[in-house]
Amino acid sequence: MSLLSLHNPATGEFSGTLPVATDEQVNETMKRAKEAFPAWAATPLQVRLDYLRRLREFLVEHGEEWARRISNDTGKVLFEAYMTEIFVTVDTIRFYEKNARRMLAPQKVKTPLLLWPKKSYIHYKPMGVVAVIAPWNYPFQLAVIPVLSALLAGNTVVLKPSEVTPATGLAIEELFRAVSFPPDVVSVLHGGGKVGAALVQADPDKIFFTGSVRTGKTIMAAAAEKLIPVELELGGKDPMIVCADANLERAANAAVWGAFTNSGQVCMSVERVYVHETVYTRFVQLVTEKTKVLRQGFPDQVEIGSMTFPRQIEIVREHVEDAIANGATAVTGGTFPDEGMFVPPTVLTGVTQEMKIMQEETFGPVLPIMAVSDEEEAIRLANSSPYGLNASVWSQDKQKARRIAERLESGNVCINDVIISFANPHLPFGGVKQSGIGRYRGMGSLQSFTHSISIIHDPGDKKRELNWYPYTEDQQTMMSGITRLLYGAKRTWNKETLAAIWREFRRR
Ligand code: NAD
Repeated sequence: MSLLSLHNPATGEFSGTLPVATDEQVNETMKRAKEAFPAWAATPLQVRLDYLRRLREFLVEHGEEWARRISNDTGKVLFEAYMTEIFVTVDTIRFYEKNARRMLAPQKVKTPLLLWPKKSYIHYKPMGVVAVIAPWNYPFQLAVIPVLSALLAGNTVVLKPSEVTPATGLAIEELFRAVSFPPDVVSVLHGGGKVGAALVQADPDKIFFTGSVRTGKTIMAAAAEKLIPVELELGGKDPMIVCADANLERAANAAVWGAFTNSGQVCMSVERVYVHETVYTRFVQLVTEKTKVLRQGFPDQVEIGSMTFPRQIEIVREHVEDAIANGATAVTGGTFPDEGMFVPPTVLTGVTQEMKIMQEETFGPVLPIMAVSDEEEAIRLANSSPYGLNASVWSQDKQKARRIAERLESGNVCINDVIISFANPHLPFGGVKQSGIGRYRGMGSLQSFTHSISIIHDPGDKKRELNWYPYTEDQQTMMSGITRLLYGAKRTWNKETLAAIWREFRRR
């Protein structure tokens, strides 16, 4: 039997193992989730919301304990575990408690006059079984929020948490048990990419994936064979544009927090900064001072914890070493531990756009800063990336900031702030370009786990419609007359058209 090992990356402490799901277990779990679907889909929304309310109450009650478990599994600072995993989750549940009814209610929409007297509606029907495949950087909320969204929309769910953070997967499983969801409505399969691939092959009705671009492409290719809809929340290389008129103190605080929170292992980390040349020196000085006083350790009374995944340190090292070899300077950090998972926060200057550190997702505590001569250059460099997840613009001129924001190729943009887009559940979240496909959160967040079903309803009292068989000359006269009237430059009626319509109406 294959096992995942539970250990704390910050302390190296080992706390046990967890069996990896076999292919048979994956298929059996999917079969049961499919069987559980009709009853869960038919469960009134209020009852589904009651499960979420109970889950919220449980999480608030046990929040500190769950945050500690996540912190022990990831090496992240306890405060960050609480704020970004527990708080964000309960806040999202409250958003659903307030808005789910409106989001899922059937909608009546307009029907054009030509289709009178029909009426038109959109109904939101659950899709079936949703497979949620989650990453390790926010292993709790990036698994639990999509799971709860899918459940609330009436789907049953099979979750595969990341193999890098299996203890959080276990904590999530316990959370679902604690609120006693009906059997097989939500299941957790532990394991790595092989289990994820088997889950995709097991024929879910939708796949919600958060992770790397590489895995996202593999999943999308596998899903294409079966035409399974996929939503992909992928990586980023978020630019920060600091204009000459920015509040520099605030911008420097944000750059430091935005680059180093969660040890930089955030899809929306500040991964590259473009600063106007007139304020570059001052900005670098502020960032350096603020970085030098950061405390690193575990689990509290510090700002930066450890990295989570050993392999990620190698990527960070490769990017930093490449930058230094090509002329960059590490004004803080720049060194890597011989052992252990603590990477010191690194500020790089003298970087150029061609370097790996400015091109590829680093996903570690590194802040490369580059001077630019104007707004145009900043926008051009910010957009010259295959990614487009989040970006930030720093200026005290509101119009200018909005103008720059609109020109950025990015799914989300913050003005005078960083990362925070995700914190507002009213905002849709997702990437453009290689940062992903689809949006979740926002008022569409539950609908994205449904099929929008269109219903058009005719009273059914007439024997035929104007466009049905048998075809007549009057139908052609009527059609071209109406087309001229509605869409032509002159919008003219003529007697023949009116007469044709009248005769056709009488044939109904
Ligand atoms: P990853 O792609 O390595 O793994 C993500 C998940 O996919 C894991 O559960 C893994 O087991 C599973 N998996 C791996 N191979 C698979 C396969 N062939 N079929 C099915 N499942 C498979 O990503 P990661 O290293 O866990 O996460 C870090 C990445 O996630 C970064 O690129 C980061 O930017 C991105 N991310 C994006 C967002 C977002 O919202 N856009 C949020 C967090 C992280």
